[in-house]
Amino acid sequence: MTNSFLKVEGVSKHFGQFTALEQISFQMNKNEFVCLLGPSGCGKTTLLRLIAGLDQATKGRIYVNERDITNLPPAKRNFGIVFQSYALFPNLTALKNVEFGLKAKKIPKQQVREKAMEALELVDLLHVMDKHPAQLSGGQQQRVSLARALALSPEFLLLDEPLSALDAKVREKLRYEIRMIQEKTGIPTIMVTHDQEEALTMADKIIVMNNAKIVQTGTPQEVYYQPNHPFVADFIGSINFINKHSNLKDVVAIRPEHIKVTEENGLLSIVETVEFKGPVYRLKVKVVEPTSSLFNELVKVDVSAHIAHRLNIQKGSQLAITLPENRILAYKEQVVV
Ligand code: ATP
Repeated sequence: MTNSFLKVEGVSKHFGQFTALEQISFQMNKNEFVCLLGPSGCGKTTLLRLIAGLDQATKGRIYVNERDITNLPPAKRNFGIVFQSYALFPNLTALKNVEFGLKAKKIPKQQVREKAMEALELVDLLHVMDKHPAQLSGGQQQRVSLARALALSPEFLLLDEPLSALDAKVREKLRYEIRMIQEKTGIPTIMVTHDQEEALTMADKIIVMNNAKIVQTGTPQEVYYQPNHPFVADFIGSINFINKHSNLKDVVAIRPEHIKVTEENGLLSIVETVEFKGPVYRLKVKVVEPTSSLFNELVKVDVSAHIAHRLNIQKGSQLAITLPENRILAYKEQVVV
């Protein structure tokens, strides 16, 4: 038996003359948590809508469990969906909101309450089941909509920017909870996000998109440490594009935390700005080593607070930086920054 759950094959979507998706192909396995990550307008939501059947692909096929679902209406696809906006009925309690979806699916009456309670328990909301959405926090409302999706025992879950409307602390907590629930239930899940940190912390596999295309597919570690394109290197984490001002065809890049800082034995540099970020300091240093090809380049460097304090790094400090060869990324394409 194959482990493949979803297969998207050569899918394109045009809106009139406009290409929203171009030749999208990827696979996901059973139990996987996949993030579609990319900037606004790259086509993430369009792709999710095609998988849900809310829109039709112009070209290509979509398979679930090796069954071609390309032309199947949404009602026959057996998925749960959660939106950024919660989409709860304000006049119904949390419990009734969850029950609503089950009744709509014509689940036998005696099972409706039981399934709704089970789902609310899974998202840890039984204690507020009689409250209305307005009496719940944003995070709780989003958990109600997750419970509503889970109550239907869906074959897969689609999450469209589910955390974007929440504040930072709640978002971090819910990231963890959603991932725990997904692992517990084993439901294959696809989440759309433009937040790289969200994708890195939650996904088994990240599909990085830009301009209607997939740029890279990989584990969080793969897309972070081996970005296959300057766009990915720039979109995920921070990056220095070193010789972008030169006439060279290739571009060299390195992440700020991979640059080593010492008092001597390296490229002589002057600290121009210091930003405190808690565990690390983000420095911008200017290379003043006249013989270096990096002469006059401004480079972002992250140093641990421990080292920054030991070296007493401040604006105007003189440092020596080294760029370890095994951390340097090289690309053929010139980058426009
Ligand atoms: P965001 O994070 O802003 O939602 P996204 O990556 O999800 O971005 P999509 O919503 O998939 O992007 O949109 C991709 C492109 O397709 C956008 O330029 C959008 O304007 C266009 N688009 C989406 N739906 C339609 C439509 N029904 N008709 C015309 N153009 C559309």
